[in-house]
Amino acid sequence: MATTLDMEQLTVKCQSLYQPPQIELAVVLQSALRKNFADATVRVVDCPDLTQRPFNLAAPGLCGSPRVAEVGGVPNLIPSPRREKLYSLWQVPAACGLQHGMLLGAGAGPWPHVGKNSEMIPNLSITEAGRCNKSHVVSVEEGAMVQTRLPADEARSALLCNMFVSKGEPGKVFEIVCEKRTGADNFISCLRKALQARYNERTVAMGGVFLIEAGKAKVHVMPDFCATPIRNDDDLNKWLRFYEASAPMVCCTSLLSTDPGLDFRLEHTHCFSEHGEGGHYHCDTTPAGVRYRAYLQLAESAVRIDAPTETHQIGRD
Ligand SMILES: [Zn+2]
Repeated sequence: MATTLDMEQLTVKCQSLYQPPQIELAVVLQSALRKNFADATVRVVDCPDLTQRPFNLAAPGLCGSPRVAEVGGVPNLIPSPRREKLYSLWQVPAACGLQHGMLLGAGAGPWPHVGKNSEMIPNLSITEAGRCNKSHVVSVEEGAMVQTRLPADEARSALLCNMFVSKGEPGKVFEIVCEKRTGADNFISCLRKALQARYNERTVAMGGVFLIEAGKAKVHVMPDFCATPIRNDDDLNKWLRFYEASAPMVCCTSLLSTDPGLDFRLEHTHCFSEHGEGGHYHCDTTPAGVRYRAYLQLAESAVRIDAPTETHQIGRD
C-alpha cells in the first residue's frame, strides 16, 4: 500500500549559489554572532572526523560538491498529510548529480516503518564500499519523545526533508564556537540573518552539524497525523508536542539566506543524542549556560526535488 516514489521520475531543479570568500564569510558570521552571544569565534579549519563521537555522522567530512537540497515540502503536511509522498533518501545524492555522497538534515520519518508520523534525522552515506545509515527517528509514545535508530536499509522520508549533501570528504570547513546567548535569535537564525543582511538577493547557503555542548533546547516532535486539517500556525502549535532536550545534542542543519526562486524552506534543524532525546530544534532554553560548536560548509548549489505545486508559508519555523 505504501509505494516509495522514484526520484528519477520527479521534478528536480538546480540553482547555483553565491559563494563568498571563506575569510570574508568567517568575519561576517563572527561579527553577527558576537551581537547575539557573549562569546563567539569563527575559524576555517580542517574538518575533524565527524564519524567519531560526539558527532556520529555517516561520513567523515562535509567537502566535495556541497549542496543544500529539499525534497517535498511543508504543503505535503499542511493542511492535510499526503501519505503517498514517500521518498528514498538513497536516491538524493544521484538527484544532486553525485554518484557517491553523504547527506544529513531534517525531515519527516517513514510512517510505514514507524507506524505513525515522526521526526527524522537523516544521516547516511553511499561510498564505493557500500551504504552506511545512521539515521534516527523521534516519535511521540504515550506522551513522551522516543528516539529510535532506523534499520540499515530503512532510509525513506515522508512528506518533506531538508538536507545538506556532499561527497563527505575531509577538507576545510567553518568551525564556529559560541556561548552565552544574549540576543533573541537561535543559533542558526543568527547565521542566516547575517548572510541575508550582507549578501541581500544573492543566495548563500550552508549546512552541516552543530553540537549543543552545554545547556538545554526547546524541540518539537510531530505526533501522529492530525485527523483535522491544520489551517494556520495556531493549529500547528496545538498539534505539535514540545519538549526540553538536554546537551549534548547533535544537530543536523541546512540554511539559506534567501529563497533562490525554488520555494525553499530557509532553515531546518533536527537533533539526536546518545541519551535518547531528539527532535526539531527551536532554540536553547538556557541562554546563560548554552554553548554551541559547529562544523559547517558553504553550498555550491541548491537542489529542489518534487516541490509541491500549491504552496504556502505556514509552519516553516
Ligand atoms: Zn522539523
